[in-house]
Amino acid sequence: MVVWDEALLAYDMGDHPLDPVRVELTVALARELGVLDRPGVRLVRPEPADEALLTRVHDLRYLDAVRVAPRDPLFAGHGLGTADNPVFDGMHESSALVAGATVAAAEAVWRGEARRAVNVAGGLHHAMPARAAGFCVYNDPAVAIARLLDLGARRIAYVDVDVHHGDGVQQVFYDDPRVLTVSLHETPLALFPGTGFPDETGGPGAEGAAVNVALPPGTDDAGWQRAFHAVVPSVLRVFRPEILVTQCGADGHRLDPLADLHLSVDGQRATYLALRALADELCEGRWVATGGGGYALVEVVPRAWTHLLAAATGAPLDPATPTPPGWRALAAARRPGREVPLRMTDDVDPAYRPWQPTGEPNSVDRAVAATRKSVFPLLGLDPHDPRD
Ligand SMILES: [Zn+2]
Repeated sequence: MVVWDEALLAYDMGDHPLDPVRVELTVALARELGVLDRPGVRLVRPEPADEALLTRVHDLRYLDAVRVAPRDPLFAGHGLGTADNPVFDGMHESSALVAGATVAAAEAVWRGEARRAVNVAGGLHHAMPARAAGFCVYNDPAVAIARLLDLGARRIAYVDVDVHHGDGVQQVFYDDPRVLTVSLHETPLALFPGTGFPDETGGPGAEGAAVNVALPPGTDDAGWQRAFHAVVPSVLRVFRPEILVTQCGADGHRLDPLADLHLSVDGQRATYLALRALADELCEGRWVATGGGGYALVEVVPRAWTHLLAAATGAPLDPATPTPPGWRALAAARRPGREVPLRMTDDVDPAYRPWQPTGEPNSVDRAVAATRKSVFPLLGLDPHDPRD
């Protein structure tokens, strides 16, 4: 199931890196490649999340500030009206629609109406209970997870592969042992939001329920895959989630202007397929996926998330697939002068060497070891055993 409505493009901060054209171009590319017309794929229009849902995560006073901000920006406070989080018309309505879309995806998967569901407009993982942050107004993954808890879910795993730490979701559920949050990101020493260190492992009563892998700038596909597979499957297997929620930000790509990792769309595709495989292995396939960051609007995001949509709706797309001429024309019209990709691949082989605790560790392996040392013992895992 794909949750989609053109109205989601109204989450538009104006002259700002988070440009809805990336979502428009994603849906157009997926549509032209036939991904949205596959047998059994349903396109569902979302409803906005209402106040009762949003206040499962956010303070009512903050909601009031978001509502009033377009008319009265000077008095809004709460992180609004800054360069990162400018105020825009319809901010409450469009943010509530993004949250409602992720909630719809989560409800459909939880109730068995869909095995997997995607909201590419979602993934606003930096929003805090009473504060906008990092381009995010309402935290749609957190609202959807809260809704799953209300529907009776007892163990929910959230995996965040955006280049930035999934700080808002981690904070909301830091003391809740029912929600495991796992975030792989560029080290907070180098990048916003400055959290996501390996020693952030969960609050009292939820020790081990937060997992953070802080990767060095320049990490490539092989390093990323090695780190992912040295941590994520182990912690998920021991947690035994009933449902997997993932934030699939595409800003780890080497062309992304806001961060410094060196991933390719081929590596991102491999990560999405690994997440799907974990949902199949552990959650009877139940997988709720959102978009997230991603600022190479033409070059990267549409291809990355079309691979995500393909992974969620059936067979993975062959990386050698050419981009359709109609889509190339649309991309060139939306962003004249930008290089429009001709194929769904960056011609990178995302193969990796599995992590080993021995030998001369490089900086990625040191990051992996730090995470394993901090959190594995809390989960009953051996940080030094590569089989764990
Ligand atoms: Zn990001």
